[in-house]
Amino acid sequence: MTQTFDHTPGAELSAADLATWRERLRAVRTVVVLTGAGISAESGVPTFRQAQTGLWARYRAENLATPEAFEHDPDLVWRWYAGRREKLLSVQPNAGHRALAELAERVPELVLVTQNVDGLHQRAGSREVIELHGSIHRLHPFGLAQPGADDSADWPQPPGEQPPRDARGRLLRPSVVWFGESLPERALAEAIQAAGRADVFLAIGTSALVHPAASLPLLAREQGAWTVEVNPQETALSARMDQVLRGAAGQVLPQLLAALA
Ligand code: NAD
Repeated sequence: MTQTFDHTPGAELSAADLATWRERLRAVRTVVVLTGAGISAESGVPTFRQAQTGLWARYRAENLATPEAFEHDPDLVWRWYAGRREKLLSVQPNAGHRALAELAERVPELVLVTQNVDGLHQRAGSREVIELHGSIHRLHPFGLAQPGADDSADWPQPPGEQPPRDARGRLLRPSVVWFGESLPERALAEAIQAAGRADVFLAIGTSALVHPAASLPLLAREQGAWTVEVNPQETALSARMDQVLRGAAGQVLPQLLAALA
């Protein structure tokens, strides 16, 4: 049966929440965490839509974050991503990112899977993050390669007005998964495999509308994991999780960590 504890963002978790969590983590081997854009909200990371202010207000994300858009106007897409990346480099990881990095030190195995491209988990100290939607901080050749491919490259400094080319003359593009593209095969396979062996699965700050990422908590649950959602809003997952903690990740996760001390 699903236990739902209703917390306004910032509220303290109840003793019952924390007791359940502590008990579930007592003999845990593998914790798998899936994060979405919500975990970076308290760092001030704009969603795609919020990023379309000012100059960009007249464009739709769907018209910028696609292979067709890049093919049509690579300079425009390049400049949009250069601006997004600059904003991301100017914000800091928050207490939620940091709590997850510390949680990894407290359990035998923690697999962190993110849909975010912002690199904030790594900056908070998480190692080996599975990036399902790639990373805005890397580039790869436009064409056949996927995010995480061996021929990925660094951003030029400064980024300039046009995408650079690699040694073979191929245009380099941001290593993020665009609308209409497949998820990187290796990252997805690793995430599915981890979900299958999870004892506890945490879904944090994701509206769980984008598959296959949204299927991971359900897959984990089918395989016997205890599933927990951390989100201030109800989502497509809420009714199917074992425990729902309504609150902001930056408030809830430090409390979950402290409960293990
Ligand atoms: P999403 O679909 O993952 O939904 C965001 C969820 O976070 C919502 O359910 C919301 O209720 C929840 N949320 C809001 N504040 C929260 C908080 N403080 N703590 C916990 N949860 C909170 O995100 P989206 O913006 O619709 O983006 C869809 C996709 O676009 C992402 O999966 C990602 O690939 C990409 N994206 C990435 C970034 C990033 O890298 N930070 C930002 C925007 C979009």
